[in-house]
Amino acid sequence: MTSNAAADIPRTYNSAEVEQPIYQNWLDKGYFTPTVDPSKTPFCIIMPPPNVTGELHLGHALTAALEDALTRWHRMLGDSTLWLPGKDHAGIATQWVVERLLASEGTTRQELGREKFEERVWEWVEQYGNTIDEQHKRLGASCDWTRLSFTLDPGPVKAVRTTFVNLYNRGLIYRHERIINWCPRCSTALSDLEVEYEEEDGKLYYIRYPLTEESNPSAPSSGEDRGEGYITVATTRPESMLGDTGVAVHPEDSRYQNMIGTHALLPIVDRRIPIVGDEAIELAFGTGALKVTPGHDPVDFEIGARHGLEIINVIGFDGNMTEAAGKYAGTERFQARAQVVEELETLGLLEKVEDLTHSVGHCQRCTSVVEPLISLQWFLNLGHHDEPDSIASRAHAAVANGDITIVPERFKNVYLNWLENIRDWCISRQLWWGHRIPVWYCDKCTDPIASVDELNTCPNCGSDNLTQDPDVLDTWFSSGLWPHSTHGWPDNTEDLSYFYPTSVMETGYDIIFFWVARMIIMGIENTGEVPFRTVFLHGMVRDAQGAKMSKTRGNTMDPLELVDQYGTDALRFALTTGTAPGNDLRLGDSKLESARNFANKVWNAARFVITSLEGKGGLEGWHDLAHLEHREDRWIVSRLDQLTNEVNESLAAFELGDAQQKLYDFIWNDFCDWHIEMAKVRLRAGSGPSPLPVLAHVLERSLRLLHPFMPFITEAIWQNLVSRLPMEGDLPESIMIARYPQATKSRYDRQAEEEITLVMQTIRAVRNTRSQLQIPASQNLEALVEADDYQTLIEEESEVIRTLSRIEPLRVVSNATGQDSQVRSIALVVTPLVVRLPVEGVVNLSAEQTRLQKELDNCQNNLKRVETLVSNPAFRAKARPEVVETEEERLRSLNDQQQRLEEILTQLGG
Ligand SMILES: [Zn+2]
Ligand SMILES: [Zn+2]
Repeated sequence: MTSNAAADIPRTYNSAEVEQPIYQNWLDKGYFTPTVDPSKTPFCIIMPPPNVTGELHLGHALTAALEDALTRWHRMLGDSTLWLPGKDHAGIATQWVVERLLASEGTTRQELGREKFEERVWEWVEQYGNTIDEQHKRLGASCDWTRLSFTLDPGPVKAVRTTFVNLYNRGLIYRHERIINWCPRCSTALSDLEVEYEEEDGKLYYIRYPLTEESNPSAPSSGEDRGEGYITVATTRPESMLGDTGVAVHPEDSRYQNMIGTHALLPIVDRRIPIVGDEAIELAFGTGALKVTPGHDPVDFEIGARHGLEIINVIGFDGNMTEAAGKYAGTERFQARAQVVEELETLGLLEKVEDLTHSVGHCQRCTSVVEPLISLQWFLNLGHHDEPDSIASRAHAAVANGDITIVPERFKNVYLNWLENIRDWCISRQLWWGHRIPVWYCDKCTDPIASVDELNTCPNCGSDNLTQDPDVLDTWFSSGLWPHSTHGWPDNTEDLSYFYPTSVMETGYDIIFFWVARMIIMGIENTGEVPFRTVFLHGMVRDAQGAKMSKTRGNTMDPLELVDQYGTDALRFALTTGTAPGNDLRLGDSKLESARNFANKVWNAARFVITSLEGKGGLEGWHDLAHLEHREDRWIVSRLDQLTNEVNESLAAFELGDAQQKLYDFIWNDFCDWHIEMAKVRLRAGSGPSPLPVLAHVLERSLRLLHPFMPFITEAIWQNLVSRLPMEGDLPESIMIARYPQATKSRYDRQAEEEITLVMQTIRAVRNTRSQLQIPASQNLEALVEADDYQTLIEEESEVIRTLSRIEPLRVVSNATGQDSQVRSIALVVTPLVVRLPVEGVVNLSAEQTRLQKELDNCQNNLKRVETLVSNPAFRAKARPEVVETEEERLRSLNDQQQRLEEILTQLGG
């Protein structure tokens, strides 16, 4: 820093002026780039790569605040610390952005062709893809930008292809025709995780399928009145009936038992379809008879396979009905639904329609209703978790046996349960943007060839007529390799052997399956080692009322606007203070304001200390605290060392919210409101040991402790502070490379703490009484302290007590002597002290009594109302927990108030 020792510290903190130059200096000095140093402990966090289309939102800001805090802490602990940033090519998202762009130009990707389209996307990425990096810099992210990785960089591409080829050669990647989730809008298969289910109002249609005569010999073979000659099925998707190839009933269902083995006649298309018995049918759902559409439903697909039913695809990849749908061919799927229902009604085959709420799957990206379709896709065989040597079993064991710890622990079971129910992963996507599947088909050979390198000629027959598979891989396939592919795997690089396995994977609990589980799976398969030791999950950011933030609700907040308004440090502090791992958190103006107030409080305290140091000598040895003469100094240093211990412990346990709360409490209360105020008294008096060395020490250490959470303001103050101190001890050129404080337990001082606590309680008791009796600040009160064994203490601290509670004179006696009994006084019990304040003559006693009585009545009325509310079971059941909490808190405070008023009234009356 180019800070000038003579420069004054500005009156107010201006984050906008300070942040940018500080960040640039850190970058210029290369502080974010670690060295591979075998003598140091490596610490590595891989940043969840944001989408290249991404714009910074509060979720990113929370991620960055937590990861940067951990990174800065470890760097200050002396570890060789790497926070590795990256970006994801985000297959569907990016392709969609560019497709919309093309649409606005009146063209399509199909018109452009694959090669031109890919060029267009690369252009877009080069132009806009670094937006989010710049936004991360504004948050103060101390990640190593020299190692910035993109999922489509040559290294990660090689890693993806190598992984694919290895798994393919081991027979674990296969191509198969299967029912998958298809998005007709995006024209691609989706994994189970990319489908979002929503409860929606729909209809359940009961459709009669006429039985053929063989199953019901008594029924007429034709004509309107078929009487009993139906089997009725129920469906929410009537258009799919055109592809029915069977009806299934439970083999023990007495209603239908005699029909098994016979046939029904599918209406509209007049297809003769068998009635089969299958154990999977639920007797209670619908009519107990299930129409079987193997081409358009995963359950039906399995039933169909068990009974050899034909597969007919009536809905196409474009969401329109196919040729197989007969006269409905070409009709859009939802229009076809309405028309099929109408036709069934005309035919008298629609028995009834019921309303129902059911869960409908939507494409996570574009919200289109997902269509289950049969298609030829690539899958990764994960096996079963209790099948030895399966992929799933290794990923399961890594967490079950503790090789990987998940914080908070409750997510361990969430992870294990998911793996216990896992199915093969559909890894192919019908997109043009992404990692193209490294498989080639030869026109002469039958077997496909998987290859890491581009193939131009067939390695088997030499033919140069090769076609590459058109599909690309699921984006999560490449991000699943991120902890090792970013370090150069499959090459055995220095970074890989030093930083891998990484230390912590910090991310939102919402992507524990999408991403965390896949990294564990891929990491173990590729390297034989877990990708990280700890998974640290954070919750979602909600608004001040606890509602989810969304654009439709209009309650989102733009982190960059908040940075402008409150400063980066305040935003980071507001996002992460007092929150626990894995829990959702709320952010609103009051929280942000309180964080900004804290930043200002720190600034003002620093300004006082720095101004006081100006031109003062005698600071040699300021960092040596071995012989503290003054009780107040021993107290604050003892508190600081305990805080230091607690903050380190909280950080080690990933309780960052706790660590910050403790720092806040110490700096605001102990340091600013008490120690600095006490020190001012000493400075004014100009006698006794100077508080300046300790003020400098406590400020300097507090800044270091706070630095991981509020990086900018701490650096700004620290530079200014140390420029005024003798350069002794460990004072590097930036706070971010200074050592993180560790507690010196020998400085814990129980006696000083007890004594100063008593002094503070005494001052507080007098202040409370003054405010209750509305005694103006300008008016001094006399006080008589019965100090028992603490006479020396009170005498030594009398200057502080008198100044901070406006007492004059203060007399100290060893115990009650009965003097002054003729003057009405209030006795404050501050065990083991008694403080007597003679108030007669100072306040108008009878007027005070009347006023206080009124206040007491008021208080009791409120108390009654709140008591009734809080004890009302209906209120407790219906109100939001935080509302109940607020009322309970009010009840407690009213109770305290009542007690205090009663006490003081008794004393005034006595
Ligand atoms: Zn879609
Ligand atoms: Zn060949």
